[in-house]
Amino acid sequence: MQVAETMDISQAMQVLQAMLAYAVLQFSVKALRIALDMKIVLHACCGPCSTVPLKLLREQGHELCVFFSNSNIQPEAEYIRRRDVAAKYASELGVEFIEGTYDPNDWIRAVGDHRAYGVERCSHCYRMRFAEPAAYAREIGADALATSLTISPYQFTNAINAELKKAADLNGVAALESDYRSQYRLSVELSRAAGMYRQNFCGCMYSQVEAQEQRDAAKLKRERAKAKRRLARSEQITAQTLARLEKGKWSTGICGMGGLIDSMEEFAGCGLRAGGGVDVRGVADVNGGANAISGADTGSCADAAAELGN
Ligand code: SF4
Repeated sequence: MQVAETMDISQAMQVLQAMLAYAVLQFSVKALRIALDMKIVLHACCGPCSTVPLKLLREQGHELCVFFSNSNIQPEAEYIRRRDVAAKYASELGVEFIEGTYDPNDWIRAVGDHRAYGVERCSHCYRMRFAEPAAYAREIGADALATSLTISPYQFTNAINAELKKAADLNGVAALESDYRSQYRLSVELSRAAGMYRQNFCGCMYSQVEAQEQRDAAKLKRERAKAKRRLARSEQITAQTLARLEKGKWSTGICGMGGLIDSMEEFAGCGLRAGGGVDVRGVADVNGGANAISGADTGSCADAAAELGN
């Protein structure tokens, strides 16, 4: 009786082990198949961003279908332009291209009151854009859903992957989470080489305004820095010129505006053109420094110019 019970437990253990081994085998086969030759629906936000994911996924031997689902893009002319670029590129690669529904109202409804730039607004946007390609992936029996959005250093990578997974889970396909940001430069090179139009804003109406504001702010910053450098250079040149004048060794100098001058007349005139403000404490002429202008020892360029009759 005790022997029979022992045998039952042993057999049960063997059955359990066999079942476990089978499950592991099944899982491994599926994982291997997914790793090697998946059928993937790639949500493409635009042509330039799709270059690298398409290149890498094709090199890995996957079968791809590009799905353009971007109701966030406004105005419509911009949408058409981006769509056509993405479609042309897919066609050149021999990859199937599907266009989803374009309805900017879907995007307006999706983001609702989340108008300020940030992960909240963009997460709603990602969710809306992944819904259709995820459903399509299920419909055609694809293995996975992927997106080109994670190539952009301006996007919220974690939020993209989280939304991609939600959409994929809802439709019973795998989510091919990614982070292509390190390949961003390559995407720029590839898209330029392909002669693609490269947009300068993300897509939605808010992002167009935000991008312009950022460009304006950057331009202002550059102009301020340039003006500061010019002023510093001007002050440096003025100081050097004055030092020369003080030594009475004036021959050829550089005016405060950066031009070469050869005489005190020019120097004085230059000061006038520059609006004066350059102190002149001793001016000698170009011919040896002997003829210092009397009365100009504490004056400005304007004083010197007046004395010279300029
Ligand atoms: S900035 Fe881009 S990702 Fe964010 S809401 Fe606008 S279009 Fe969507």
